[in-house]
Amino acid sequence: MKQFQILIVEDDQSVRNLISVTLKVHGYTYTTAVRAADAVMLSTSLKPDLVLLDLGLPDTDGTEVIRSIRSWSNMPIIVISARSDDADKIAALDAGADDYLTKPFSTDELMARIRVVQRRLSLLQSGSGESDVFRNGDLLVDYKAALVKCGDTEVHLTLTEYKLLKLLSLNVGKVLTYSSIVKEIWGGSVETDIVSLRVHMATLRKKLGDVAREEPLIRTHVGIGYSMNRY
Ligand code: CA
Repeated sequence: MKQFQILIVEDDQSVRNLISVTLKVHGYTYTTAVRAADAVMLSTSLKPDLVLLDLGLPDTDGTEVIRSIRSWSNMPIIVISARSDDADKIAALDAGADDYLTKPFSTDELMARIRVVQRRLSLLQSGSGESDVFRNGDLLVDYKAALVKCGDTEVHLTLTEYKLLKLLSLNVGKVLTYSSIVKEIWGGSVETDIVSLRVHMATLRKKLGDVAREEPLIRTHVGIGYSMNRY
C-alpha cells in the first residue's frame, strides 16, 4: 500500500519545521515547498494525499495554489493561515480548500484535522461515498428514500433541513461556507438567506439531538460556515 504522503507548503521555517517534525513523529511521509510555484509543480508530480497550505506565500497567494490544484484534482487541502480575517478563510474554502487551521495551532489540532481527511478519503475510496445510504456514527441518511435515522429512531425533517443534511453528508469533513451552502440550497447569496440558513440549521441540529452530543455531528465555524464531523 502506498504510504500517505503530505505536501507541506509554508515559507515560515519555524512553522515548516514544527509541521515536519510532527508528521515525522506520527509516521507520515512528507515533502516541503516554500513557494506557490513549487507547490503547484510538486502537487502535480507527487500527487500527494493531502496538502497543508499556508496562504501568505512569497510569490503568489496560496488561494491561487488551491485554484490551480482544483482545476485537475480533488486532493484534500487544509489551509494553514496566520490570518485571523475570516474573509481570507472563506475565500480559500470557496476556492476549494477542505478545512483550515489558524496559527498558532497545537500539533494535536493539526493531527486531528489530518485524521478527519484520512477518514474521509477512506470513505471515498471504499466507494461508500457514492452509495445510496450514508452512515456516520448513529446517523443514517438513505438518499433514495430521503429517510433519516438516528439510531433506530426516524427523524422527520422539512425539505430544507433534509437538503442541508444531504449537502453536509455528501461533503463530510469539508467546511462549507455560508454563501456556498446558500447558493447550493436556495440558488442565491443574499444576506437574508444566511439568516434563514442559521434558523434551518438550528432546527436541523435540534432534531438530530446534536446539542446533547458530546461530539456534535455538525460543527459550527463562527463567521464562516458549517461542516459535518466524520465518525
Ligand atoms: Ca507565510
